[in-house]
This record gives sequence, structure tokens and C-alpha cells, in this order.
Amino acid sequence: MTDQVEEIRSKLDIADIVREYIPLQQAGANFRAPCPFHKEKSPSFMVSTSKQIWHCFGCGLGGDVFSFVMKQEGLEFGDALRYLAEKAGVVLERQRPEMREEKGRVLELLDLCSRYYYQAFLKSPKADFARSYVESRGFDSALSDEFRIGYSLPDGDALCTFLLSKKYTANDIFAAGVGFKKEQGYGLLDRFRNRLMIPIRTIHGSVVGFGGRVLDVNEKLGKYINSPQTAFYDKSNIVFGLDKARNEIRAKGFVILVEGYMDFFALYQAGVKNVAAISGTALTLNQIKLIKRFTNHFYFSFDTDSAGSAATLRGLGLVLKEGVQAKVICLPKKSDGTPMYKDPDECIRKNPSDWFSAVQHARSCIEFHVERVLTPEVQADSYKKKQAVREIFDVIAFLPDRIEQDHWIRVLAKELSLSERILWEEFNQKDRVIKKPVRPVQNVSVQSQQRNTKSDREDLLLSILWKYPELCKYVQDTVTSSMFLEKDNNKVYTFLLSMYTKGSFESGKDGFSSQIEEELPKEKLVLLLLLVDNEYGETEKDELKKIVGQLGTHIRLRALQTRREELKRLLDEAEARGDSSAVEGYMESFRILE
Ligand SMILES: [Zn+2]
Repeated sequence: MTDQVEEIRSKLDIADIVREYIPLQQAGANFRAPCPFHKEKSPSFMVSTSKQIWHCFGCGLGGDVFSFVMKQEGLEFGDALRYLAEKAGVVLERQRPEMREEKGRVLELLDLCSRYYYQAFLKSPKADFARSYVESRGFDSALSDEFRIGYSLPDGDALCTFLLSKKYTANDIFAAGVGFKKEQGYGLLDRFRNRLMIPIRTIHGSVVGFGGRVLDVNEKLGKYINSPQTAFYDKSNIVFGLDKARNEIRAKGFVILVEGYMDFFALYQAGVKNVAAISGTALTLNQIKLIKRFTNHFYFSFDTDSAGSAATLRGLGLVLKEGVQAKVICLPKKSDGTPMYKDPDECIRKNPSDWFSAVQHARSCIEFHVERVLTPEVQADSYKKKQAVREIFDVIAFLPDRIEQDHWIRVLAKELSLSERILWEEFNQKDRVIKKPVRPVQNVSVQSQQRNTKSDREDLLLSILWKYPELCKYVQDTVTSSMFLEKDNNKVYTFLLSMYTKGSFESGKDGFSSQIEEELPKEKLVLLLLLVDNEYGETEKDELKKIVGQLGTHIRLRALQTRREELKRLLDEAEARGDSSAVEGYMESFRILE
């Protein structure tokens, strides 16, 4: 097993895997990015390809490609292993334990269901209406094939009978959420009957559930029924279409977030493939986190009715707190102010150019809010005015700087005929209340605290020297290893100096042999390898020379100070004892020190 872990590790490049989630920037010999595991303004998440490790200097997390995937995807080691084995093209030898067997079997069953529904859609005479419905939507066969848009037969137990014939058990069927026990009599009943079937997949493309759209207009049930919550499907944890759209989202740099499957398909069919749908639920925090793996820019395109704008407002509030850049795609209105299209689906089908223009002119979050509340109705009512101002303050509070905040406060003051001073007073009061728990202040202060600890400067100096051993020249005469307070640092410095003197190093990339690596704790090694690029990735070597000098001076002065304090203490003790020869000795030491 360990061999296979090693094999997988050696076949993958950690940078490629990390890049699937966050964009990496070159930083010296390593890569850097904003940490996906904590909020931060300046990137301190580092990836080393030479060591195949990652480390965050902000939150302190780190590890290898397995731990990264486990954390990022929320997987157990076994699942991460399976996932990465597939990526690396490694066939795992060992049999999976019982639980895995069951999970694997149910996922297989769900996949089989989607194929079954799709075949029924293609071939069954009973699916005539479903096929013509899909055609009327303008969806072509490539689309229904790619997503396996299917059809569930109206017969009560067609699917269950099929699944039982394939040796799946009733329990498998219940676990998958596609059937249940008949209330009366014996046997099983299909959950979905006479519906257009839309397979719902995880981010990795496994089918975990279904959305079933009603085809019979006389049916009293809702327009959609979705799979019930199962061990595999939790609607608040799924973003529809993300498995197909993730690459395009990353390439375009933003995601278009729609409400329903039909909006999704209409856009996808029209070539707008950086789209995802939050079908069947209000936007959740988990969904935001899933999407944030691919982009930090969300464009909302929800329904144009009042429920849709309420959902947009809620969504905006939520994503702002997560540090997402949000915009709203505002579809054109008629002259009386009512929406021209009820949703993105209708807009792109009837008039694609209206759609594309709306995307191009998507409103910033604050513009959207201001426009929404600055209606004559609000203007005329002082209570509503106050409410409106409060709402907008929530948004202004998240603007990145005072200049932008100032701009919008002026706009508000002008439009609502209020004094700027009063607005600022109100805002500052509110700002203090809402910002605190949200802004990533906490991490910043943790970071700066860490930066000020004693060993930090030592680490910095050693990390630079590790990469550029020739810079030892600027400290070797003034800084001795005993001046390092941390034991490991003391050891590393001694090692670095001796390698430097012997001339056995290669400048520019992890300069030294692995000799010392085995003696050091892993965390120390990671720190020394990555810290320099994290702090000084873009710094010229000439500048680094100066920094080495400064760090060296600091460490030397600190050592002197410590020595002085120690001598002072010894001197005082000797005097108290009346030991005059010791006093003389310490005095002499003092003199040499100065
Ligand atoms: Zn972090």
C-alpha cells in the first residue's frame, strides 16, 4: 500500500493538483496563492514542487498532495487515495472494505439509473412528449447526451424492477433514494414517474441524485421533485453543473449563477458554459465554498420576479461576507419598468444579444442595491428611506476602501437629499457593528504576531541562506551559531556555514544536499524551504544581500543584549556575595563586549 501511495505521489505534480482549485503564482522556485483554508489579504500559501509539499504561513497548515486533497474536498484518506490514484492512472491493488463496497455499489446504481432514464428518453414511445418538450426548449441531442437528460416511465415500478433484475437489493434502492416500499401491498414503487429526469452530479461527476421535472401540466405536484436527502445527496452541498462548468469558470474568471436547471441548460446550449445552478435551495454557504474553488467572482442571474430579487439580495449578503466579488446581471425592462424576460432561459432563447449585453453591463453589488432602493416610492417615505439606507450600509461596509465608501455615501446623500455628515455618522456606527466578525482581521494579527517572534528573524535569515548560500559571505564573520536562540536554527546555521566554506552548494534552488534534511523536524524544513519565496519571492538578489545584512545585525545585537543582561545579573550576584575576583572577571567581560 505504501508503495502505491509513493507511486501516486511520484506520478502527480502537487502544483497541478493545487491549480485545479486555486490559481498559483510563481514565487521564486516555488508557487504562492491566497490560502484556500483561511481568509487572507496577501497570499501566504506556498507550494514547493521540488519537495512536493504545501504550507501556509498564515494559518500554519501544510502537508503533501494527499492532505491537500483531503482538506480541500473533505475526504477521508481512503477516498483521497482513490481520487488521486485515478488522476495518476494507478490501479489500486487492495480490496476495499465492506463500507466502501456498499457506497461504491449505490453510486454505481445511481449511475445506472441515469443511463436507464436516458435510454427511456431516447427510445420509449411513452417519452414522445418528453422529447418534444426538450426540443421545444431548443436543447439539441448533444446536450441531452452530455447531461443524460432522461425520462422516467409512468409505470409504477419500471425502474425498481429493472434494478432488482440487475441484482441490486431493495436497500440499495432506498439508499439511492430512487424508490420506496409500496404503502399497500408488496413490492417497490419508483420515486419518479412520467418526469423529465435530470441527473445531479457531484463536482467530480458522480451521479448522486435526480431532479424530476413535471411533464403533465395537470399534475398537482410541484414543478420539480428532487431526490430526497441521502448519504450521497444533500442539496445544500451540491451546485448543479459545476462538474461540467468548472474549467470554463476558471478560464473565464467568473461564474454565472442561475436558479434552475432550465436556465443552466439554456445558457450552456447557447455556449455560455461558465454557469452553475443552485437548484432546489436558497444559496448556501457550502455552495459558495464549492464555487470559490474555481473563482472568486460571482455573477447573479436569478429570476426577475420579486422572489428572484429577494433571493439575489440574500445571496449577495452571503457572498459578500465570504469575500466574494459579486455582480448582478440585470435583464432589460419594459418601458413601464416590468421585466421583459422572466429568467435567463427566456432571455437567451428569445434574444441572445440582450443577454450578452446584460452580462457585459452587469451591475456591481452596490449599484444594484442603490438602484433598487432609489425609487420615487422610497424617496417619498422617510421610514422606507431609513430602511433603504441601512440596507445599503451593509454593502458599503464591505467595499475595499474608504474612497469607494465615500463615493457611494455621496451618491446616497445626493439621491436621498440627506446630509453627508449624518450619513457618515450613521455608517460609522453601523460599520463597527457589522464588520468585526467578518473581516479577516484575526488572521492578519495572528500573522503579524508570528512575524515578531524571536525565531522568526532567524528563520527568515536561514531561509534566504538556504536558497542563496553565497550570501553567507555577509554574515559569516559577524554572526555565530550560538547567537541563534532556537536549537534547530543553531544546527542549521552551523551546517550552512560549513557547506558554504566547502563550496558544496548550488545557488538558487534548495541549495543544499539532503544531508541535514533528515536531522531536522519536517516543519522546520518546510519553513526554511518556503519562507524565503513567501516573503521575498519577487525581491532582487541585491536587495536580499541588504536584508541578510540587516537580519544578521539584528540577531547579533540581540545576542549582545542578552549577553549583557546575563553579565549584569552575574555581576550583581557576585557583588552581593562579596566575591571580588568574580566581579573583576565579569567587568572584564563587559569591557570586551562593548
Ligand atoms: Zn492558511
